[in-house]
Amino acid sequence: MRTDNLIGVQARTPRSPEQPGGTAHPVGPVRGATGSGWPADASTVRALADADQPALIRQHRAVRGPEMKLFASAAEMRAIPRSAEFRNGGVSFWYREPGLPERRAALPGAADYDVCIVGGGYTGLWCAYYLKRAQPDLRVAVLEREFAGFGASGRNGGWLSAEFAGSRRRLAEAHGKGAVIALQRAMMASVDEVIATAEAEGIDADIVKGGMRMVATNPAQRARLEEEVRYLHEWGYWPEDVFMIEHGHEPRLQVDGALLASYSPHAARIQPAKLALGLAAAVERLGVDIFEDTAVTEIRPRVGERRPVAVTAGGEVRADHVIRATEGFTSTLQGRRREWLPMNSSMIVTEPLAEETWKHIGWEGREVLGDAAHAYCYAQRTADDRIAIGGRGVPYRFGSRQDAGGGTPPQAIAELWRVLARLFPVASDVPVAHAWSGVLGVPRDWCPTVHLDPETGLGWAGGYVGSGVTAANLAGRTLRDLVLGHRSELTRLPWVGRSVRGWEPEPLRWVGTQVVYGLYRTADRRESDRVCHTSRFADLATRISGR
Ligand SMILES: Cc1cc2nc3c(=O)[nH]c(=O)nc-3n(C[C@H](O)[C@H](O)[C@H](O)COP(=O)(O)OP(=O)(O)OC[C@H]3O[C@@H](n4cnc5c(N)ncnc54)[C@H](O)[C@@H]3O)c2cc1C
Repeated sequence: MRTDNLIGVQARTPRSPEQPGGTAHPVGPVRGATGSGWPADASTVRALADADQPALIRQHRAVRGPEMKLFASAAEMRAIPRSAEFRNGGVSFWYREPGLPERRAALPGAADYDVCIVGGGYTGLWCAYYLKRAQPDLRVAVLEREFAGFGASGRNGGWLSAEFAGSRRRLAEAHGKGAVIALQRAMMASVDEVIATAEAEGIDADIVKGGMRMVATNPAQRARLEEEVRYLHEWGYWPEDVFMIEHGHEPRLQVDGALLASYSPHAARIQPAKLALGLAAAVERLGVDIFEDTAVTEIRPRVGERRPVAVTAGGEVRADHVIRATEGFTSTLQGRRREWLPMNSSMIVTEPLAEETWKHIGWEGREVLGDAAHAYCYAQRTADDRIAIGGRGVPYRFGSRQDAGGGTPPQAIAELWRVLARLFPVASDVPVAHAWSGVLGVPRDWCPTVHLDPETGLGWAGGYVGSGVTAANLAGRTLRDLVLGHRSELTRLPWVGRSVRGWEPEPLRWVGTQVVYGLYRTADRRESDRVCHTSRFADLATRISGR
């Protein structure tokens, strides 16, 4: 529903620059890994949360500054309530219940397959799944550096939604508006496809199709949200697919300071790691070989009679097709450093909330929830009644560096907690149980791509920015058709076969990201504080980002 917001940079989804007024979104120990020692002081916690309540904003503004600060102070970071079992990183909270999986065997040596898929996230696994379902005798291997579900697929916010990243107008310029609308409808159908397949395969991923609610908490956000709904109605959402809802809409969801909300039925809440683990098991049952602890260092195209190859320390895998499904990690592959920017997104999850607190909040429909800020948040009520909320973090590390274990800086944790406390003041003294981060892949034009080059035998899918949970399924089915040489409705979708230029070299990449990110945060602060329309800082950020 959000379209191309750049702050999808560090969160999920994007918002279209063409949108009027719119600017657009190793495994390790963990306990206390960062930011150790944050004693919870109940009165400080209350004061901080209260200070964010709209009714008090005006009173406090004169003496305390604006509602949204650029940075949390050390005192604020210390004041965040943490549970005794607080963990930071360790891949993600989503692995606490199922546990980190025992790793499958690594590639034993050189091998030969029909299709070799690099990366065992949703993209690679869906691709393997649909290939094997379509052609059971196909020899398919998945090579995974860590374990299947280690990347964003095991860490995300659990929004199985019909959103996709990228400028609709840009895609329409090349393929026509009808093609973009077809892509949007295919995304909606993919939400149901994931749910149906999970059920058919016996994957219990805590899925509830409760839809998606977006809230506006200041006048500028309200104007954007209204505009966004109008905009979506032009691009494949019919009136029943997304609409504004009144206060008191059932099932109730009490978000503090919400001026307005929109709703779309095309979304489900999932437990991301359970989906990834279940999907990997289903793929294996179909006869796909998954090799873990197997890092691919280079992917080489077909040259003459020599078939494409995925190179690993343990040997080379030759195949008719090699598919790259490495998303935010793509920059670690030889020759791919500037292809997709690895952008971080961070999350926190609370301890389970008390029944009394849930009575106040409602959220019985379990819809996924987001706001209309530029540095927006995304949230879900988990199956065990916690609030998981994500969005802000350190958006990009110099030189495309990555923190593979998911450790999250205290500053990012503090910012997320401030959002939580602002939207749900009644939950502000519920301890934070876990914080983690992951990487998204961001192409230079912010639009995802599915591609297969018959000459080289190489294919790939990704660059979903922050909206890959559903898109990876659609990409997997599209790759199946491309690999099997079937021209289909899917292979005609406008995200297929696009070529996109790479990112600028450092330090431009880093400076640009910092500037854009800073501008969006400034815009949010100004919108919450003084302006009733989308801040010019956000417009500037969108222009600089080139979305
Ligand atoms: C914190 C966070 C929240 C998000 N929330 C949402 C959300 O709510 N909804 C939504 O739609 N999207 C969300 N996203 C984005 C979504 O999770 C991703 O777009 C999606 O999971 C991408 O799947 P993938 O398989 O393409 O990539 P990944 O899941 O990242 O998988 C790539 C895999 O490739 C492996 N790999 C990397 N390099 C190599 C190599 N050289 N050799 C072998 N293997 C390699 C990795 O270990 C990894 O397992 C979020 C992302 C993050 C980080």
